[in-house]
Amino acid sequence: MKLAQRVQTLEPSATIALSDQAKKLQAQGVDVVNLTAGEPDFPTPLAIKQAAIESIQSGQADSYTAAAGILPLRQALADKINQQYRTEVTAADVAITTGAKFALYLVSQVLLDPNDEVLIPVPYWVSYSEQVKLAGGVPVFVVPTSRDNKVSVADLKAHATEKTRALIINSPQNPSGSVYSKDELVQIGQWAVENGITLITDDIYRDLIYNQTEFHSLFEFAGKIREQTILISGFSKTYAMTGWRVGFIAGPGEFMQKISALLSQTTSNLTVSSQYAALAALSLPNSEIEKMRGDYEQRLNHFYPEFKALPGFSFPVKPQGAFYLFPDVTEALSLCQIETTAEFARRLLDEVHVAVVPGEAFGQPGSLRLSYAAASESLEKGVQRINKFMRVHT
Ligand code: PLP
Repeated sequence: MKLAQRVQTLEPSATIALSDQAKKLQAQGVDVVNLTAGEPDFPTPLAIKQAAIESIQSGQADSYTAAAGILPLRQALADKINQQYRTEVTAADVAITTGAKFALYLVSQVLLDPNDEVLIPVPYWVSYSEQVKLAGGVPVFVVPTSRDNKVSVADLKAHATEKTRALIINSPQNPSGSVYSKDELVQIGQWAVENGITLITDDIYRDLIYNQTEFHSLFEFAGKIREQTILISGFSKTYAMTGWRVGFIAGPGEFMQKISALLSQTTSNLTVSSQYAALAALSLPNSEIEKMRGDYEQRLNHFYPEFKALPGFSFPVKPQGAFYLFPDVTEALSLCQIETTAEFARRLLDEVHVAVVPGEAFGQPGSLRLSYAAASESLEKGVQRINKFMRVHT
């Protein structure tokens, strides 16, 4: 069968592929320490599940809803966004999508013409570049000059052309856990405004931020910056709801109308029970979210020094958000005489049964991503096993 040109180079998401491989080994009875997961290791809070069950039992979940989601959810979300970002968005400015992943896909489809360029800071979340390409756009990777995994205006200027259409900022960042400061964002925002570049802010980890780091977003700056910014976020990480697939987009009116139209021509509404679950999530007591956030923070503070002490592992800066460690392992590679991080990850899985994601998946070979959304016992085992691997091979 002849396949379309646009899928010729399309590969499955590397993180999902690795996690599947680890799960396959686990199913064969191998004691795998799986640190690949990009998902909370907490169950979805009970009140959220109950709301979904009620929507099914009452028959509310039986029928289509508006393609962009039920009004009570869009209204509650608009209220939440207004409180978090000091904005004045209305329910009409918000659309509910099948995960933040599909939200980002829709944004590329609505924004990009063939050969439009999108600036993507490195390291980046795996799907950004593939989705830009699927829309006919060209991903332009921006490697930061500073070692903190954050791009500056000078870095962006060096890669911008007259075809630059958009810039994606993800903070806290997957995979590095870096968080942009208010000043850094204002500078980037002003530069984008001056150059007519649309800003896409992926705030999916906004609630997972640690050790008194302040969260800021391009969407919070009133005026020209916000007029040019599209907010993407979702419920997967904050509320431990990856399986429910709830994401959302907020942005300017004309843009949102096209998002709704595209939703109506693709998925239609998100599964109704998930929408009611999301509505319940928005009124969850803050203490429930704080319990999970606090737990990640403890794990970060406990395990960061342990992973940092592994031979050949170094961190330019301590992560401030999300739930990943992204050590530079170039020295570990040369100690073990291993050529690439992809090979290193494969051998860690084969020899000591620790699953991690190589930096190649994020455009940064030389680093590894380890998720600490895993039980402390698994993380402890992970450190010990990698240490053993390093001792055997150096
Ligand atoms: N953006 C980033 C940076 C992510 O890490 C993820 C998930 O791993 C997503 C978006 C998509 O999240 P979801 O589709 O589960 O809402």
